[in-house]
Amino acid sequence: MMLADFHVHSNFSDGKLTIPAVIDLYGQRGFGAIAITDHVGESRTVIGKAAGHLGLCLTPATFPLYLEILKSEAERAWDQYRMVVIPGVELSKNSISNHRSAHILALGVSEYLSADGDVAEIAQAIREHGAVSIAAHPVDSGKFEKQTYHLWNRRNELENAFDAWEVASGDRLFPEVLQSRLPKIASSDLHIARHMTSWKTILECERHPEAILDAIRKQEVQFRFYRDKNYEQSHLHHRRDIESLLEHQYLHPNSWNLGQYQA
Ligand SMILES: [Zn+2]
Ligand SMILES: [Zn+2]
Repeated sequence: MMLADFHVHSNFSDGKLTIPAVIDLYGQRGFGAIAITDHVGESRTVIGKAAGHLGLCLTPATFPLYLEILKSEAERAWDQYRMVVIPGVELSKNSISNHRSAHILALGVSEYLSADGDVAEIAQAIREHGAVSIAAHPVDSGKFEKQTYHLWNRRNELENAFDAWEVASGDRLFPEVLQSRLPKIASSDLHIARHMTSWKTILECERHPEAILDAIRKQEVQFRFYRDKNYEQSHLHHRRDIESLLEHQYLHPNSWNLGQYQA
């Protein structure tokens, strides 16, 4: 059994930690696999261009260094912690309208992928690249920030476009995704160390990048709310969401630190 987190940011985009600090944060806690997924913005929109200039997104200029550091840090993570580090990106379409905004994760990237164009084409390009495509936080995240509803609005058409849809992000479970037939994954969307206390995915497979990506594709995944003693938060989960997870056999039986329910 290995704990995994496939949505993590570093200071190559809007995260606060360096890549080595992220590796140590997870490695010291015994995680088996993580994906670092910094933002790539659109090249043609004002918001996308501004984010690139402000250093809040990877650009074609910063991407090679990002990949190089990920590669050397993946080697260190394996030697030091036996943890697999998967290079990823979060292709980010940010519009004034929540309904036109969409974030798409690509796991297992080896070249720069563009966030331009229609989401169906982006999802296809990710798979052609051999990477795993994930619809990130597709419904109301419950946070006071911009929302990304575009993928959920088109979920019927895009049903088969993604290898998984985030059923949980941070400390939030998404009942709409949970109740759907869509393939699922749970991740932290970590930007700061305190976000460690959040939903994670559990896998039982070989500690090898391809085996891990295949387990996501085959949906051999379970979820667990991971409570980090250094970063406690008091969020309560709704009993009906937890029961639904149990019912769908998505909740790992060893989720001993699941925390409290809320009626
Ligand atoms: Zn996002
Ligand atoms: Zn993110």
